[in-house]
Amino acid sequence: MKRILIVDDEPDLLDLIELILTNEGYEIDKAQNGKTAVELASKNNYDLIIMDIMMPEMDGWETIKTIRAEKKNLTIPVVMLTCRDNSQDKYFAIQEGVEDYITKPFTPNQLVSVIGNIFA
Ligand SMILES: [Mg+2]
Repeated sequence: MKRILIVDDEPDLLDLIELILTNEGYEIDKAQNGKTAVELASKNNYDLIIMDIMMPEMDGWETIKTIRAEKKNLTIPVVMLTCRDNSQDKYFAIQEGVEDYITKPFTPNQLVSVIGNIFA
């Protein structure tokens, strides 16, 4: 079973994504902030991380950098969640080597399709 860590500061969105992906047969862990995400990613082995960009204190980019600084997480696939579609985020995406992007708001089908493509 594929294990996915979802990171977003909006609890309702975390619950929604968990519901969608649990129904698809994925095992889900959730984090509401970067600090918790770093701790979980250090303790557990995930097949994928879904990461919100805009979060207070530690944003998604800083969180991913910190997670990937740990050797075991160096090549972990990441999908960023963003409500923006700006060039700075695209630049970071190339630099950080994230697998894909999901722009909010998204449909369950879009989410499932992006995740499915990564595991294909
Ligand atoms: Mg956010």
